[in-house]
Amino acid sequence: MMARMAEELGRAGKVLLAAHRDPDGDALGATLGLMHLLQAQGKEVFAHSAGPVPAEYEFMPGLDRLSPAMPAPDWPDLAVLLDCHDPERAGAAAADFLPRTRRIAVVDHHLGRADFGQAVWVEPDYAATCEMLGFMAGEAGWAIGPEAATCLFVGVQTDTGRFSYSNARPRTYRLGAELVELGADPWAISQQAYSSSLARLKIMGRVFAGLKLVAGERVALAKVAQADLAELGAVSSDLDRVVEELRAIRGVEVALLIKELKGGGVKVSLRSRGRVDVGSLAIGLGGGGHKNAAGVRLESGMDEAEARLAGLLARGLGEKA
Ligand code: 5GP
Ligand code: MN
Repeated sequence: MMARMAEELGRAGKVLLAAHRDPDGDALGATLGLMHLLQAQGKEVFAHSAGPVPAEYEFMPGLDRLSPAMPAPDWPDLAVLLDCHDPERAGAAAADFLPRTRRIAVVDHHLGRADFGQAVWVEPDYAATCEMLGFMAGEAGWAIGPEAATCLFVGVQTDTGRFSYSNARPRTYRLGAELVELGADPWAISQQAYSSSLARLKIMGRVFAGLKLVAGERVALAKVAQADLAELGAVSSDLDRVVEELRAIRGVEVALLIKELKGGGVKVSLRSRGRVDVGSLAIGLGGGGHKNAAGVRLESGMDEAEARLAGLLARGLGEKA
C-alpha cells in the first residue's frame, strides 16, 4: 500500500491535506511534512487544520500556511486525511468538506475500521503517521528537504515519547537518523517541542495534587475541570503529557486523565503498559487509539465518566490478573 499511496499522491496536482482537530506533533508534522514534500514536486497544496495549534509547535516550518478554512469544493484533485481515519475527527469543516471531494486518500496508524476514502493506508504497526510518510518518501525516491525532515522528525519524536515507547523499533531509529542527516536538528526541535510555560507547570501541579490510585493501585486517575484551567490561565494542550507521567508511577498499569470539555462532556486520555489494551476499550466507547495509548470523548460529567471507566478497568484488570 505504501507504493500505491506514493503513486496516488504523485498523480494529483492540487492536494488538500487535513489531520485531526486538537492537533499534536504527529498531526501537524504529517500535514506540514507532506505539504513540503508535495510542494517540492511542484504541486499545489492546501493545508487545513481545525486547530488549536499548541504553542510548542508554532516553530514548525510552514505553520503559517495552515488554514482553518477550506478551499472551493471542486479545487482538490485529491484530499488526504492524515493521522486519523474518520472525517469527524478532523473537525466540523473537514467532516463537511471531505465527503464531497473527488477522491480521498487516508494515511493513519491508529487501530480500527477504515471504511472511508478510496486509497486507504492504515497500519497500526507504525509508530507515527510521520514515520509512514518518511518511509514512503524514501522508498519512492522523493526529495526530502530540511523543512520536511524537521516536520516528520517532530511527529516521530512526539508519538514515540522521544523514541522511548514500545512502538519505537529499529526502523524508527534509522528513520530518525536519516531525518537528522537531511537537516532535522534534534536539539533545536526539542527546545521548542518540549518547551513549557508557567501556566502549564501550575496546572500539572494541580492535577498531580488531586491524583488517585485505584483498583489495587494499578490504575492512576486524575481529573481536570475547566475552572482549573481558567483560574491558572492554562489551555487543554497543557495537559497533553500529564497522562504519561501518571503511567510512569511504579506499579501502575493504566493511567486515566479525565478532562472536562468547554461545551459539556469530557475527553478521557488513556495509557497502559504491558497487556492492558486501552485502544479496544476506547473503541468500545466510541473513541480510538492504540493498544497502549487511546482517547475518547464522552457526553457525561467527570464523576460519571470516572465511575464508568474505573469499573471497566477494574473488571479488565481482574480478568487478566
Ligand atoms: P491523547 O490521549 O493523547 O489525546 O490520545 C491518545 C491516542 O488516542 C492518540 O493516538 C489519539 O489519536 C487517540 N484519540 C484520542 N482521542 C480520541 C478520540 O476522541 N477519538 C479517537 N478515535 N481517537 C482518539
Ligand atoms: Mn499519530
